[in-house]
Amino acid sequence: MSGNENKHESGNKSARKFTRRNFVKYGLVGLAGAVVIERTYDFLSESTARAKIVIVGGGSAGITMAAYLEDIFRYDDLTIIDPSTDHHYQPGYTLIAGDVFEPKDIVRSTKSLIPRKVKWLQDSVTELNPDNNFVVTAKNGKVAYDFLVLVPGCQVDFNLVPGITREDLGTGNVHCIYDYQGSIACRDALRKLPELKEGRLVFTDTYTKLKCGGAPKKICLMAEDRLRDLKLRDRFQLEYYCNQKELMKPKIFGDRLAKIYDERDVIVKYRHRLASVDTAAKKAVFDVLPEPSGSPVPPDAKYERVVVDFDFLHYVPPMSVPDFVKQSPLADPAKPGGWVKVDKATLVHSKYPNVISFGDVASLASKTGAAIRMQAPVAAANLRALVEGKEPHAKYNGYSACPIITEYGKVLMCEFGYEDKLMPTIPFLDPGIERGIWWTLKAHGLKPMYYHGMLNALM
Ligand SMILES: Cc1cc2nc3c(=O)[nH]c(=O)nc-3n(C[C@H](O)[C@H](O)[C@H](O)COP(=O)(O)OP(=O)(O)OC[C@H]3O[C@@H](n4cnc5c(N)ncnc54)[C@H](O)[C@@H]3O)c2cc1C
Repeated sequence: MSGNENKHESGNKSARKFTRRNFVKYGLVGLAGAVVIERTYDFLSESTARAKIVIVGGGSAGITMAAYLEDIFRYDDLTIIDPSTDHHYQPGYTLIAGDVFEPKDIVRSTKSLIPRKVKWLQDSVTELNPDNNFVVTAKNGKVAYDFLVLVPGCQVDFNLVPGITREDLGTGNVHCIYDYQGSIACRDALRKLPELKEGRLVFTDTYTKLKCGGAPKKICLMAEDRLRDLKLRDRFQLEYYCNQKELMKPKIFGDRLAKIYDERDVIVKYRHRLASVDTAAKKAVFDVLPEPSGSPVPPDAKYERVVVDFDFLHYVPPMSVPDFVKQSPLADPAKPGGWVKVDKATLVHSKYPNVISFGDVASLASKTGAAIRMQAPVAAANLRALVEGKEPHAKYNGYSACPIITEYGKVLMCEFGYEDKLMPTIPFLDPGIERGIWWTLKAHGLKPMYYHGMLNALM
């Protein structure tokens, strides 16, 4: 297959693709079956213990956890509190921007995903009161619990980059794919690149912990590949402004990415933090930090500043826990971002033993759906133990995965755990090489696995 045949697939073209999709689909059903058989069911057998369990947040972590808990506590009192009518498969934002998915492909109604026996309170939590075991909601007032599962995801702080707001995304050709509408606007802008005679495309990441740290790299490399495909590459300069000293950890992936950027003539600047954007003048201002830092720049700091003209900018705002978590005793005031401090193995809160937290809001190393797939069964097993008055025994090993699209048709599958331990799903494949098989998984396999497997506690 030539490189071009693989490019810019939008899911509606050839019979060959239909066949491949079926191949993937049936392969996945087989794989899911194997995983189900392989799984130990001891902690999933029905528990006779009783408790009122409240899950705050019905995103990837909340729905997956609810599915596990419904299996365990079949006749018990499980409630999810979440205001959103729609549930987004957020990894799809990158693929919308890259023109691989249609926007509608990644939206499902929340109602259709919540397990049947779990109550859904369509409301926003405004306050957490772990000392008295209740949460306060905007419309329904106090909701009491015996055990709390705190999984409201992370907040993208669009207000913290002076010069651009979430509502303005797209203005001045400034884009961010950490937003549904933003990913659509970014797709439209990338489609229009041929209309520019020449240009400077600037990409940044951010200094805080962020969900899917690979996403800004994916959109950069997809844009570059698209320009090559259109034979326009020599008209554009691409630059990636990285907040860290390396593009990625573990080292094997950072080194490979640095080599790819180099080979593809994408200039990388390290330790550069976006300070502000001028959408009218199309200028981005960066602070050059002596060392990477996860904290805001102190007001009296005198760092070198550089001003960069751009024709297209993709940026990532800082991220933190949602404000109602920040204002509660469950946030960690000692850490920038306030990430909820849990034991990194058991996922139980460090101070409140009847609170479990994981997913993007928690103080865990990596913020991905892939990590949640491994965290949720651990959290469910430990919640069961706590409800039964036992010690939590299950341990999360830090597994996370970030499939970095390096070009249309190729993905570098970065899988790792705590202490940067490599944890490849297929151990005999060199993880430091981007491959077509991982593209097939990313573009065709992971979404059905998410909806049919993970959210149903089947994998
Ligand atoms: C652009 C992008 C690309 C990504 N790519 C990948 C990838 O390739 N692979 C991967 O594994 N992961 C990827 N991710 C990350 C993945 O989507 C997240 O890690 C995952 O969705 C986090 O799940 P969560 O349940 O913690 O939070 P979310 O899924 O964000 O859910 C949080 C839920 O909490 C609810 N909530 C918020 N505030 C309140 C409140 N006050 N009261 C009640 N409910 C509330 C929200 O409505 C939401 O439903 C990507 C994310 C983005 C944005």
